[in-house]
Amino acid sequence: MIYFSKLFDNQLIFVRFFMYITCLDLEGVLVPEIWIAFSEESGIPELRRTTRDEPDYNKLMNWRLGILKEHGLGLKQIQDTIAKIDPLPGAKEFMDELRQTCQVVILSDTFTQFAQPLMRKLGMPSIFCNELIVGKDGMITGFKMRQENGKFHAVKALQSIGFKTIASGDSFNDLAMIKQSQKGFLFRAPEHIINDNPDVLAFTEYSQLLDAIKETVANENAD
Ligand SMILES: [Mg+2]
Repeated sequence: MIYFSKLFDNQLIFVRFFMYITCLDLEGVLVPEIWIAFSEESGIPELRRTTRDEPDYNKLMNWRLGILKEHGLGLKQIQDTIAKIDPLPGAKEFMDELRQTCQVVILSDTFTQFAQPLMRKLGMPSIFCNELIVGKDGMITGFKMRQENGKFHAVKALQSIGFKTIASGDSFNDLAMIKQSQKGFLFRAPEHIINDNPDVLAFTEYSQLLDAIKETVANENAD
């Protein structure tokens, strides 16, 4: 099908649109770090603590849930606060254009219930993330990670059903999907991650990332 469509450049690009899936990290790439933004919006400074301070994610999440409980904050209050958080400047326009270039799925370690208000502002792209467990009284009682190393396994799974993937993110937990993909890029990553991964191109502007993705999708030799 690809070879047949070589006859028509536009059609070739059209076929390749369906062949590639770009897998994007959410926080730090399209929206601010949700817990930091939420900490500022809610006036609870302890919630600024991130995986950089506490590498054990389960421990960090349980600690965060304890603070929410202490302040009597249930899911509704948190969603109302998150609803005031906007995507990063230019993120929506970037997503709109990217979705004309290839298929896109957001792979995130955040939770469906937190991501939901932000997804509306990004035009409801597909997102694979985790779930909060919410009691009948609306209080968050726990959380359920879909699987360990979920971003890597999602990319592997897409490849196993015949897709090619392009991945981009800003953190340690994005490196596995970036390295597993046909093409991967760091985006607004901290200096030490960029320095530790000199083989991965690093961008700071949406226009650069978009151009690199477009080039990959359009360029047959990239396969
Ligand atoms: Mg991130």
